[in-house]
Amino acid sequence: MKPVVDHDLCIGCGVCEETCPEVFQLRDDGLSYVINENPEPELYGQIRDAVDMCPVEAISVEGG
Ligand code: SF4
Repeated sequence: MKPVVDHDLCIGCGVCEETCPEVFQLRDDGLSYVINENPEPELYGQIRDAVDMCPVEAISVEGG
């Protein structure tokens, strides 16, 4: 699973970082960045939660 944030959609709310700080990081430019592109399977649940909770559906996952 490779998480991706669409920076054209992200509004910098920080929900993804709160949900899975091992993978998402909010930076000074007000956008969320993926800091771990090959997360371990233990994080998949949190990543899916972040996908579901993002208010603008900016997060997608490649490869399942
Ligand atoms: S939850 Fe969505 S809108 Fe909010 S910071 Fe993360 S990617 Fe951006």
